[in-house]
Amino acid sequence: MIVTETRRGLSEALSAPREAGSRVALVPTMGYLHEGHLSLVGLARADSDFLAVSVFVNPLQFGPDEDLDRYPRDLDRDLSALRAQGVDLVFHPCVDEMYLSGEPRITVDPGEMGRVLCGAYRPVHFRGVLTVVARLFGLFSPTVAFFGQKDYQQLTLVRRMVQDLELGVEVLFGPTVREEDGLALSSRNVFLSPEERRDAPGLVRALALVQEAFSRGERSGAALRHILEQEAGSYPRLRMQYGEVVHPETLEPVDPVFSGSVVAVAGFCGATRLIDNRILEG
Ligand code: AMP
Repeated sequence: MIVTETRRGLSEALSAPREAGSRVALVPTMGYLHEGHLSLVGLARADSDFLAVSVFVNPLQFGPDEDLDRYPRDLDRDLSALRAQGVDLVFHPCVDEMYLSGEPRITVDPGEMGRVLCGAYRPVHFRGVLTVVARLFGLFSPTVAFFGQKDYQQLTLVRRMVQDLELGVEVLFGPTVREEDGLALSSRNVFLSPEERRDAPGLVRALALVQEAFSRGERSGAALRHILEQEAGSYPRLRMQYGEVVHPETLEPVDPVFSGSVVAVAGFCGATRLIDNRILEG
C-alpha cells in the first residue's frame, strides 16, 4: 500500500494505473475509520483494479461553532485497517497541501439542494463538501467513487454535481452500516456518554415506525412526519433538529409520499449531532 501526504506522491502513484487504463476507485473519508467506511472500501475493492482512499478532515465543511478541532483522528489505526482491506493507495494531505494557497477562491455552490435538510442548519457545510470532492476528483480522476447512504444529502449533491458539471465520474453508494441496536456507525459516536448512547437509536426506531406506517398504507407526508417527531421526541436525551420526507433526487418535501421517497432525520444527543435516513419501500 502506497501512503502519501503530497500531491506529487499521489500523481506518481497514479501514473502506472492510469497508463494501464485501470479502473480506479476512490473512497473519500475524514478518517477515524469504522465498519461503515470499511464496507465502502470492500465494495470499491471488488469493483476496481486500483483502489485509493483519501483521509482528510476538511476544514471547509465545518462551521465556526462546529467540532473541527475535536474531530477524532487515528491515522495509524486507519492505515492498518486499510492495509488489511487490500487498498493500493492512501492520500492523507495536510490542509496546506490540499489547499495550496489557503482557502480556495473558487468553490462549488450546491444551490437550493444544499440549503435544505442539514444545509438549513449547517450553511457552509455542503459548499465545503462539494469543493473538496471536486478537488479530489481533479487530483485522482477516478473512474468511480463510493459514498455512504448514511450521508444521503451529501451523496445526492455529489451525484448532482457530477451530472451538472459533467465530471465523468461514476458515483456509487453503499448501505448504512449499523450497530446491533440500529444506531448508524459514525466517527462521532465516540462522543456519546453511556446514557446518550442508550437514547441515540431513537432516530433509527423513529425511521422504522415511519416505514411501518407507510407499509400499512399511510401516504400523508404530514402524518409520517408526525410519527417521526413523536417517536424521536420520546427519548429524553434526544433532541430532533429536523425530520422530513423528501424526493430522492431533488430533496424537496413530498406529499403524498411514494415508494422510494427518503425519510431524513437529524438530532442532537447531548452535544453530538446525529443523522440518519431511510428509503421507503413497498
Ligand atoms: P466521513 O469520514 O464521515 O466523511 O465518511 C466517509 C464516507 O463513509 C462517506 O461517504 C460516508 O457516507 C460513509 N459512511 C459514514 N458512516 C457510514 C456508515 N455507518 N455506513 C456506511 N457508510 C458510511
